[in-house]
Amino acid sequence: MPELPEVEIISNFLLDRIKNKRISNIIVNNWNLRVPITKNIDGILKGKVISNIKRRGKYITWHTDNDIVVIIHLGMSGKLIYAGAQNKHDHVIFLFSDNTSITFNDPRRFGLVIVLNKEQEINFFNDFGIEPLTDEFNGDYLQKLLKNRKVNIKSALMDNKLIVGVGNIYASESLFRAHISPLRSAKDLTYRECEKLATEIKNTLRDAITAGGSTLKDYAQPSGSVGHFQNSFYVYGRVQKPCKICNNIITLIRQNGRSTYFCSACQN
Ligand SMILES: [Zn+2]
Repeated sequence: MPELPEVEIISNFLLDRIKNKRISNIIVNNWNLRVPITKNIDGILKGKVISNIKRRGKYITWHTDNDIVVIIHLGMSGKLIYAGAQNKHDHVIFLFSDNTSITFNDPRRFGLVIVLNKEQEINFFNDFGIEPLTDEFNGDYLQKLLKNRKVNIKSALMDNKLIVGVGNIYASESLFRAHISPLRSAKDLTYRECEKLATEIKNTLRDAITAGGSTLKDYAQPSGSVGHFQNSFYVYGRVQKPCKICNNIITLIRQNGRSTYFCSACQN
């Protein structure tokens, strides 16, 4: 599942390629995603110009010249393909007046493509937590977020209402880099640990963006190129392998229904 770095990369790619383009047509092959595609999406968007593209958490938003917003989430296996070949999982195809296209392809159909107005967009993102790559997110902010949270720190980092976009991979990797055990109770982290963790969350996300994201199964950029950050993982997916720092064997546990990888020697 794409996390913040992968969605940031896709969002930046789209900004370069489709900003200021006019939508000439939309073809919907399958309306039945997890949430049905907005009825009459073609009628609403035909002729509109894409004025901006942004990311909020793991969502990509396309803004148009008349304040209509397209909200896209890639779910488990979704992809946006630029000017690409089409196959049976191509659910929506956005055609532009210069004959380029963006295709939303999603074999498992957990993705989302909906159209909202400005006010609906504000409501949609209302309970979203802080963006971890902003200046506002720092040790102070993180400590305030975690105060009184009785859950383990790994689950807290993955709570979208606290911090957006940090999923399973980047939560595990950031905790390793900050030398903090995923088993610790969120509320017990010291100020110094919160400072270190906030810094390492930013560093991990930025390093992943620089490496083109992490490609485990499905993720690819709209151009088709894949990411390389998976080669830099310290713990994620490395169960029973030696820690790259101390040679201790990496442990795999389940937390809140998700896999957590960590080094019990480096992280405490
Ligand atoms: Zn270690």
